[in-house]
Formats: sequence, C-alpha cells, structure tokens
Amino acid sequence: MRHLTSALKEIKLAIFDLDGVIYRGNTLIPGADTVIQELKDRSIKVRYNSNNSTITRDTYVKRLKDFKIPSEITDFYTSASIASVEITKLKENANIFVIGEIGLRDELQLAGHRILTNPLIEDIDFVIVGLDREFTYEKLSIAQRCILEGKALFYATNADSTLPVAKGLKPGAGSMVSSLITCTGQNPIRIFGKPEPFGIELILRDTQIPPEQACIFGDRLNTDILAGNKAGIKSIAVLTGVTTRKMIDEVKDKDINSDINLIPDLVVEKLGEIFTNN
Ligand SMILES: [Mg+2]
Repeated sequence: MRHLTSALKEIKLAIFDLDGVIYRGNTLIPGADTVIQELKDRSIKVRYNSNNSTITRDTYVKRLKDFKIPSEITDFYTSASIASVEITKLKENANIFVIGEIGLRDELQLAGHRILTNPLIEDIDFVIVGLDREFTYEKLSIAQRCILEGKALFYATNADSTLPVAKGLKPGAGSMVSSLITCTGQNPIRIFGKPEPFGIELILRDTQIPPEQACIFGDRLNTDILAGNKAGIKSIAVLTGVTTRKMIDEVKDKDINSDINLIPDLVVEKLGEIFTNN
C-alpha cells in the first residue's frame, strides 16, 4: 500500500485549487483523480477552492464527474459562493449590482438577493465585481454611480490580474476591479477570493478541522500558496500549472524584503508525489 508523505501525515483536510492542479482547461491532469480517491480512502476530507466566479458550483460537480471524480456541490468554495455567504452575513435580501457572470449571479440569487441590471442608483446596497467577459462602459458607469451617488458598498470576488486560457493569457477579474477603483477612488472593502484567507477559513469552520490538520494544493504562489500561509495551513505547490521550480527558487533567493508567505511548505512536480511506495 502506498503511504502519504511524512510531511502530510497529520492531514485530515485537503483543499484543492482546480485549474492547474486537477485539470488544465478541459483535460484532467494525469493521476489527479487517483490521488483524490486515495485521500478519501484514508478519511481525509477533500474540498475545492477556486477564484473562478464565472462557473456555478453545480457546473463544477458536472465537470469533475466528466473526469470520474465524484463530488458534491458543498465541496466547492468559489470566490462567488464565498462572496454570497459573506454578503448574506452583512444583509439579507440585499439589492445588488453585479459586474460578473452567471456563477456570481446564481450564487447571490440562491442566497435570496436581488440582482438588478438597470437599477435606481439609490436602491443598490452592494456592487460586487468579478470576471465579466461581457464587461462594458455602461456597466462600469452604473457601478460607479451606485458607489459615488448612492449608498452601495464595493466588494470584489478576486483580483487576479490574468486568466490563463488554452493559448496564453486573457484579462482577469482584477482588470475590472481596477477600472472601478480608478473611477471611484475607492478600493473594495473586501476581496473574497485567494490570496485572502476567507475561503479557507470558511472551509475550516464548515469541516471543523483545525488549521494544523489542513493543507492546500495550488499552482499559484501569489494566490493559493499565499492564502494557505495566511490561513496557517500547510501549503503545497504543484508544478502542473503556472508556477515552475525556478520561480519558487527565485522567491526563496530574494532578500529579506521578500514575502515569506509566498514560499510553499512543500513542492511537488505532480500530485502523485505525495504518496510513496515504502
Ligand atoms: Mg490554479
């Protein structure tokens, strides 16, 4: 029987980033399905934490099913679902103006909020910004007015600068967030996605697992690894996505001013390396 590497012996909860760790685009990263099953066989809880706010958790369940990875809707914590939980704590049945896609709108509506597309400015409680591939000047103008002329509070799902696609990069949610920062002179009150630790903290609370028995697997230092380190859980960089060993060495080699929170506790070429045969 294979053994879990000694660095992860105490682990009771494994949190996975999705893109670059479990799959790349529409392709399963070889071995990811087996690793997840082997963790579950050892009674280790598995949860997924993605900054992508454009897809509903329901769609994620279907996507993983296509890769023969069984999951439930409650296994997923996206920046949209986290936004929904946190906004609901602030106000129930709020009126919200969204710059974002169906994943974000659905999560907010499921929690009982109203999404208004052409609102009376003074009706809006929150402006929430996520990745919107139909972002327009008009949407930006409405969001600006809700904040400056109305009473709306500004929140963002995440601030990723880029979005990796099959052939290179496209603008990430951070591009839309920055536009609104520029035209309002305000920063979001809170950003729900990684590298902020809210998602991980929510997972720890829901699973009742203490931080020292949890870990996150991610392919990005400035989101996954930083969030894991901020939350005080073990962070494991997987080199199947955007980060290379050279990039990690460069962060480590920087002078004392570098952010030690960007350094993972463990680095593996692929997920399967967390198991050894002896
Ligand atoms: Mg990733």
